[in-house]
Amino acid sequence: MHGGEDRNVGNAGVWNVEGEENMESNLMEALKARGISRREFLRFCGLMAGTLALPAGSIGQIAKALEARRRPVLVWLEFQDCAGNSESMLRSGHPTVADVVLNLLSWEYHELIMAGAGTRAEAVLKRVVEEEKGKFIAVVEGAIPTGADGAYCTIGGRSALDIIREVCPNAAITVAMGSCAWDGGFVRSAPNPTKAIGTSEALPGVRVVNMGGCPANAVNMAALLTHYLAFNSIPELDAYNRPLFAHANLIHDQCEKRANYDAGRFVEEWGDEGHVKGYCLYHMGCKGPEATYNCPTVRWNDQTSWPVKAGHGCIACASYRFWDKMSPFYKRLPSVPGFGADVTAGNIGAAFLGAVAGATALHAVGSAVRRRVRAGADARTKPAKKDEPREKEE
Ligand code: SF4
Ligand code: SF4
Repeated sequence: MHGGEDRNVGNAGVWNVEGEENMESNLMEALKARGISRREFLRFCGLMAGTLALPAGSIGQIAKALEARRRPVLVWLEFQDCAGNSESMLRSGHPTVADVVLNLLSWEYHELIMAGAGTRAEAVLKRVVEEEKGKFIAVVEGAIPTGADGAYCTIGGRSALDIIREVCPNAAITVAMGSCAWDGGFVRSAPNPTKAIGTSEALPGVRVVNMGGCPANAVNMAALLTHYLAFNSIPELDAYNRPLFAHANLIHDQCEKRANYDAGRFVEEWGDEGHVKGYCLYHMGCKGPEATYNCPTVRWNDQTSWPVKAGHGCIACASYRFWDKMSPFYKRLPSVPGFGADVTAGNIGAAFLGAVAGATALHAVGSAVRRRVRAGADARTKPAKKDEPREKEE
């Protein structure tokens, strides 16, 4: 445990658990103190390996690396947001992703949950930046307002912009967790009265890993941190600096309702027979054909379900500027690219059923549709340049 009065404000204030001194030196002891068995820890490692798309053989490697790792310090900065990403992280399933991740890292500063307050709390942040320079992990939650000289969000008399400019360039890695921290999210959506921006826009030249989602899925955040701790590197990123393990595939291509889409079976009204039968939600505005995320496989609530399975269309919450670009959320997407402006997915499904008897042919045409849809989605949301938003603020 770190010594000194101020240090205790951050460390003990956030995770005031018995036996913390032992936890620092022995991860398994720490997990045991929180009721997590080795079997559950290995289950967590298996979940991480699966999420990162690593082979099953890597589970032991991850476990060994995590056990051997010194706990790096983490600071969690919270600005213009609803705290949904903190909630997502802290209320994850069992064995709690949170329990394991919280013990892998020394959480020294997290305003929402730390007991310390005022100048003593801010002293903790200052100390981390000075003493852990180049070694600590910075997580940003929430957008950064730039209007009125940053007056819309201040902490300890300093603007959010001032704080991240001091903290993040000194971190080993900076992670923007959730839509607001990534691209400004809901706060930045039109008309954006506070002139909010995302973390990487506020920090030109600083590499920021963007964990999209509203909120971001805690399993993905845990997988990112696990990869960093176990392999000392961040996983491969896409053009938006989002982890590819979470964004390699369209929601539509992973959706369990996909067979209904291909067969032209759609929900036409909330609560109709098709809805009861679990038909495709495309006509109800589902944005799955234009959104990438691993939501259908990682799911929520201990991998129990995800919104589309529960009967609501995807609103593309892990896509760039989705509040502006994907709304209205209940309006059906335009026609499938490549089949003419008048040909809707519904027509395509019905036409296939009538004209294509063979399942092989159906599959081939379905693949062509997927390729064209993906090309359309990429063109619609791809940034002009790496790390830069595709369009300027309206
Ligand atoms: S449109 Fe939505 S509900 Fe239908 S298959 Fe695609 S992702 Fe699933
Ligand atoms: S279904 Fe779509 S909008 Fe809903 S949580 Fe998953 S990625 Fe986000």
